[in-house]
Amino acid sequence: MQSNKEITFKEFVNNYLTPGMVEKLVVHNKTNVEVHLKPSVQQTRGKVTFKIGSVDVFEDALNAAQEELQINKKDYLDVTYMQSTDFSSLEVIVDILFIGALLMFIMWEASRLSGKGRGGPGGFFGVGKSTAKIFQPNSNVVVKFSDVAGCEEAKLEIMEFVNFLKNKDQYLKLGAKIPKGAMLTGPPGTGKTLLAKATAGEASVPFISVSGSEFLEMFVGVGPARVRDMFKEARENAPCILFIDEIDAVGKKRGGSRVMGNTEQENTLNQFLVELDGFSSQSGVVVLAATNRIDVLDPALLRAGRFDRQIYIPLPDIKGRANIFKVHLGILKTDLDKDQVAKKLAALTPGFSGADIANVCNESALIAARDLNEAVHASHFEQAIERVVGGLEKKTQVLQPQEKKTVAYHEAGHAIAGWFLEHGDPLLKVSIIPRGKGLGYAQYLPKENYLMTQEQLIDRMCTLLGGRVSEKIFFGKITSGAQDDLQKVTKMAYAQVTVLGMSDKIGQLGYRQQEGSFQKAYGEETAQIIDEEVRNLVAKCYDRTMDLLTEKKDLIDKVAKVLLEKEKIDKSDLEAVLGKRPFAEKSTYEEFVEGTGSMDEDITLPKGLENWNTPRETKFSSNSDRLFS
Ligand code: ADP
Ligand code: ZN
Repeated sequence: MQSNKEITFKEFVNNYLTPGMVEKLVVHNKTNVEVHLKPSVQQTRGKVTFKIGSVDVFEDALNAAQEELQINKKDYLDVTYMQSTDFSSLEVIVDILFIGALLMFIMWEASRLSGKGRGGPGGFFGVGKSTAKIFQPNSNVVVKFSDVAGCEEAKLEIMEFVNFLKNKDQYLKLGAKIPKGAMLTGPPGTGKTLLAKATAGEASVPFISVSGSEFLEMFVGVGPARVRDMFKEARENAPCILFIDEIDAVGKKRGGSRVMGNTEQENTLNQFLVELDGFSSQSGVVVLAATNRIDVLDPALLRAGRFDRQIYIPLPDIKGRANIFKVHLGILKTDLDKDQVAKKLAALTPGFSGADIANVCNESALIAARDLNEAVHASHFEQAIERVVGGLEKKTQVLQPQEKKTVAYHEAGHAIAGWFLEHGDPLLKVSIIPRGKGLGYAQYLPKENYLMTQEQLIDRMCTLLGGRVSEKIFFGKITSGAQDDLQKVTKMAYAQVTVLGMSDKIGQLGYRQQEGSFQKAYGEETAQIIDEEVRNLVAKCYDRTMDLLTEKKDLIDKVAKVLLEKEKIDKSDLEAVLGKRPFAEKSTYEEFVEGTGSMDEDITLPKGLENWNTPRETKFSSNSDRLFS
């Protein structure tokens, strides 16, 4: 074999591009150019190759070179392309071995899935097998609907799905098409999974449960294979409920960013859609899926005939929280009246999810046990709430005296601003003991409004700015301690300008930016106006807070001193310094729920859902007979 000489493109142009030397050029794999010399030349020069970075650049450069050498256009070199492998290169051999192994693996998988089916240890590590867990009816699924508190509407919807399985004629005879599935959406920890589990407990049909992330594997083809296998399992167990948690893991919008590795998820999603469409509404399988990221889901998933229904499970309101507390207080040992405790805690925990509440109850028992108490006391619940809101107290973290002072005046600034602004949130507690999430900590009772006026938003922003303003007033310099406050303020200001139509210059426009998309719905000029408006709004709030706190400087000073002395103060301490707050405020459960009916859950079932989890005797007493006779 002749020697192989690798040269550069420049050498090629200088030494070989004269007419009569080269027969043609062959580009291998878009990177290696093999120079086919005329036979007579090859005798003396051997084999010549050179590397290129990009085919387009190469062609342009080659043409330019030939033009410069004034070669006749019709004598320009022929360039052909080949997708081939050069076996003399070690890397390529490794590649080929790898691809071969992969092919063998895929063939093995395919034959296993199509041929032998499931059972046994299941193929090559069993990776293509469904990872879903099946709960047979009457097995030890202990969750019941009574364990899920405060989402009556969702329960009703789900009961209806079970009824679809048990009594489908009730619907079919009226000409209704039975929905194939429902999507449970809502913030994390609101009980979506719990509700699905309870459905299994109550429905007395098999319940197949899987998490979307279980379809994502590093091997090509595993995801779709698992999807196929899971649906097969569901069909074999019909009538049954198939529950897919975290469906966003597989159900993300397709064709977004074309990054490597996306395609496997897309294949999995495609397979999922194909299987879903393959169900007839009579197949006896109801698919429930859960996500807290409905905005990232591929619209194809939510089209009619797929997840027809969306069941939104919001964060619980005060009544819901009281009911959830009741459920979780159930097993705790306490001398307190549990109903009263549930109501009281519900009033103290706006914004908490069901999971947070479960956490508080468990934490309180742990805190009580730490000091060898016989029962959980009120103070343990309070500590548990503080801990869930603010993280662990770091009693050992050493703050320099000056730092401690700064934190005290910062927190006092928040407290005073909130106290004297009409729409400020009532304060529960301020502390300057460092916690997991910050140096100081203030707990407020935000009103649970469903509508916010601009005045309320602005008062809230001013309260947030109170910390920094107080630092400025007392120390003349500012610290990094306001970072979190400023982020919240900025977010609120942007929301008012771009989403809520509360800026005069932008007007009544609501630009909702799609999450994950970089495209703005407005032009450069508008973007500038938005930035300007946001800055003006925050500046206005800052000035207002500065005026207020300058006026109340003495009071801040007093509060800060109490805070430095006690480290932790609550509303009664503030009242001792400031007198009663000049605005009426609600703080107890009874005040919050006044005029909204009883606390008890309201599940009166419509007639068609009575005995929803047992098949009814259906007589085909069709009215149509009478119509036509
Ligand atoms: P999600 O699936 O919505 O993220 P989970 O169902 O996993 O939330 O909830 C986590 C835990 O929080 C549950 O195991 C339960 O202890 C508690 N929880 C949440 N919502 C409720 C509720 N409505 N009633 C009682 N407990 C709840
Ligand atoms: Zn602050």
